[in-house]
Amino acid sequence: MGRVALLLAVACLGTCSEAPDWLDHVKATGKLVVVTRNSPTTYYLGHDTEPTGPDYDLVRRFADSLGVTLDIQPRDSLEALFSAVANGDAHMAAAGLSITDRRQSRLTFSEPYQQVRQQLVYKLGTGRPRSVEEIFGRDIVVLRGSSHAETLRQIKADHPRLTWREVDRKEVGDLLAEVAAGSIELTVADSNEFDVHRNFLPEIRVAFDLGVDDALAFAFAKDHSRNLTTEADRFLARVRRDGRLARIQDRYYGHTDELDYVGTRSFIRHVDKRLPKYQDWFREAAAQNELDWRLLAAVGYQESHWRERAVSPTGVRGIMMLTEATADYLDIADREDPRSSIFGAARFLARLKERLPDTIREPDLTWMALAAYNVGFYHLRDARAIVELGGGNPDVWIEVREALPLLAQKKWYSRVKYGYARGWEPVRYVENIRSYASILRWLTAERERAIDPAADDPKLSVPAAAELSDVAP
Ligand code: GLU
Repeated sequence: MGRVALLLAVACLGTCSEAPDWLDHVKATGKLVVVTRNSPTTYYLGHDTEPTGPDYDLVRRFADSLGVTLDIQPRDSLEALFSAVANGDAHMAAAGLSITDRRQSRLTFSEPYQQVRQQLVYKLGTGRPRSVEEIFGRDIVVLRGSSHAETLRQIKADHPRLTWREVDRKEVGDLLAEVAAGSIELTVADSNEFDVHRNFLPEIRVAFDLGVDDALAFAFAKDHSRNLTTEADRFLARVRRDGRLARIQDRYYGHTDELDYVGTRSFIRHVDKRLPKYQDWFREAAAQNELDWRLLAAVGYQESHWRERAVSPTGVRGIMMLTEATADYLDIADREDPRSSIFGAARFLARLKERLPDTIREPDLTWMALAAYNVGFYHLRDARAIVELGGGNPDVWIEVREALPLLAQKKWYSRVKYGYARGWEPVRYVENIRSYASILRWLTAERERAIDPAADDPKLSVPAAAELSDVAP
């Protein structure tokens, strides 16, 4: 008896009236084993090193609906994913997989949960190809075993002059980064993958869409999976109906960068209109935790634009946008209470500074604590490890700032402990806060001078100037 059959027979002892199915095995063992890819559109470790990602969110709810725990395991190539499912090492794959003709000879798919387009990607400034004829002879690289390779093969049937290379053990994110760096000319990505990576690879552009829409779905082994697949289809129909599927997609793709970007002018307007209500709390909380109050206020602005009722699709909320886990850790019952939010965030920031090594000096210590506040302490630690791997100094912010975005590239994140992170976000986050804090310092210094002419005394203004140059960008 083969391994799969044996496992199934054991799961089924005395209980299955029909042929055994993986669903019986899942229920008997109380565990759904799912293979996936470690990438921003599937699965990665989030801020508090909790697992996250669109496929993860979906499949975790599926496991919940079956009343079992989820055992999610990343694999580092598409072939490894498919064989894990086909050989019975996993019950299913949830990895942004397209339903393709070729795959259907080996796997069964659930109903789709998302539609995407395959897009040919080039680097801005290198000339946009507009048709298949224009890419003959160009250096096109795609992942082996991907739906993208399959599409190119189909196109080649009509256009024999089309050529490309296929590589393994990389993620589509790596190929997009190589296009941005100019080391390869063209690649193909799903539209959702392109959208997420475009956030930190501003040079990449879509040349044109290849063929028709693709449907992403869960994949199962061809044998013994009928009931498990039916169960997954029912689950997907339910989450589609009750809006949970749309919420998951909004969480990862609905991002508009609204919280990251705001013009200086509206900031100044908000300093007048919104800040006064919170200013004393920022001052007090900062003083208690040995922080600069303007920096703390800048964090609040970056997080919520000083709106105490702010909520993000990822479930962070309140003026300092605390996650539920952070609020629990800080013992904050109501994240929307602005005073608790501000005092909690100040304590948290001070605590992050304490947890970082003593060898990091100010202001770098503050920037790194802020980056950790945004991306998570352990991901920041990984970025510092990358700096060390390259022979740099991990105590210097400008070096860590270069390393953080590498956490989104497999070549790097596969070498550190906590894996993939949206590493470009903390960089933008810290830089925004630095700008807000310095504008605020400038504005408040002006105003204090206006109220108190003694502040013009050079002796008195020296500390303020020194502080400004110490922390300003
Ligand atoms: N939807 C693509 C596929 O199924 C994703 C592949 C990838 O980006 O690795 O092949």
